[in-house]
Amino acid sequence: MQIECMILGEYATNCYILSGGQAGRCVLIDPADDAPRLLARLDNAGLVPEAVLLTHGHYDHLLAVPGLQARWPALPVYCHPLDIPEDTVEYEGRRAFPTVAAFANLRTLCEGGRLELAGLAFTVLHTPGHTPGSVTFQCEQALFTGDTLFLESIGRTDFAGGDDRQMAQSLARLAALPLADCPVYPGHDSPTTLAHERRFNPWLRFAQR
Ligand SMILES: [Zn+2]
Ligand SMILES: [Zn+2]
Repeated sequence: MQIECMILGEYATNCYILSGGQAGRCVLIDPADDAPRLLARLDNAGLVPEAVLLTHGHYDHLLAVPGLQARWPALPVYCHPLDIPEDTVEYEGRRAFPTVAAFANLRTLCEGGRLELAGLAFTVLHTPGHTPGSVTFQCEQALFTGDTLFLESIGRTDFAGGDDRQMAQSLARLAALPLADCPVYPGHDSPTTLAHERRFNPWLRFAQR
């Protein structure tokens, strides 16, 4: 598997392009923003996305979806149902943003779900706390943790739907995964590893007690 990260949007959100399972195909995790730049990168690499996987429903992780679906109208978008609101628009200040509910070809995923996309196998771990429907994707030995686990940090729990107790449980679960070590690709900031976080992330250390 090849993993490329593009940092997109005003919150510097990580969008991951996963390829190598099938020639010319890829999977996008959190196409955060700036569809023109993302499309140019995909064209340049000769990659067509087979699916969009969302780690959660916050708008800073999905603003490129309309631009991607304008180019590929059948492109499916996967999200946990608890992060699919009823409204198709979210307002912050005077600005309007699409929510997950606005997208065509919406597919839901849940705990323990397995997906075969672009020749890559994904397992879904429901890891609520940052949002009710936050998930972590495991692909091969890599974890894509969205805004649940960051390099020596964690996502906020003070937004609507955030929950400290659920976050602690999700972190304990990640810490206890039967993997000696593996790369961790978060929704913001630099990649890290599970071994590093077990040792140096204060929240993960606390959650392991
Ligand atoms: Zn978020
Ligand atoms: Zn985020």
